[in-house]
Amino acid sequence: MNLKEYTTLFLDRDGVINYKIDGYVQYFSEFNFIEGVLESISDLTDYFDRIIIVTNQQGIGKQLMTEKELLELHSEMLKEIEKNGGKIDKIYYCPHLATLDCNCRKPEPGMLKKAKQDFKEIIFEKSILLGDSDTDIEAAEKVGVQSVKVCSKYTLTHWTRDFLLN
Ligand SMILES: [Mg+2]
Repeated sequence: MNLKEYTTLFLDRDGVINYKIDGYVQYFSEFNFIEGVLESISDLTDYFDRIIIVTNQQGIGKQLMTEKELLELHSEMLKEIEKNGGKIDKIYYCPHLATLDCNCRKPEPGMLKKAKQDFKEIIFEKSILLGDSDTDIEAAEKVGVQSVKVCSKYTLTHWTRDFLLN
C-alpha cells in the first residue's frame, strides 16, 4: 500500500512515548518523553488525520495507582505535546489485571475496536500501530492494522524520519 494512504496512527505509550521505569509511571514527574518524540508527534500530527494512544495500565488494577492519577498524568502529557505542536485525538487505556481476561488489554484488540466505534472514519487497513512489545504487535495483527515494533535503538523518532521520507 502506498504510504500516503495511511490515515490513523495508533501509539502505545510506555516505551514508545516515554521511557519505561521500574514499576508503573504514576506521576508526571516520573514521565519522561523519549528523546525527539515531542517533535516527531508534531510532524506526525501534520501527516495523519488522527493519532490515538492505546495503553495497558495494569497498575490501576493492582491498586498501585488510581484512575484519577492516570488521567492527571495524561492531561499533563497532552499539554506538553500540544505545546510542541502535536495533537493526540484520544487516549484509551486498559486498567484491568492481566489475570482478568478482559477484551481490552493488549494483545486483545478491544481498545482498537473501541476507537473504530468512536471514530467512524478509521479504517484498520489504513492504520499503523507503533509499539515496543509483542503484545502491541499481536493486537494490531488481530484486526489487520499494520504494525511497527520500536525499541531503544529504533525509536518513534527514527521511524518517523523513515516514514515521512517515503
Ligand atoms: Mg509499551
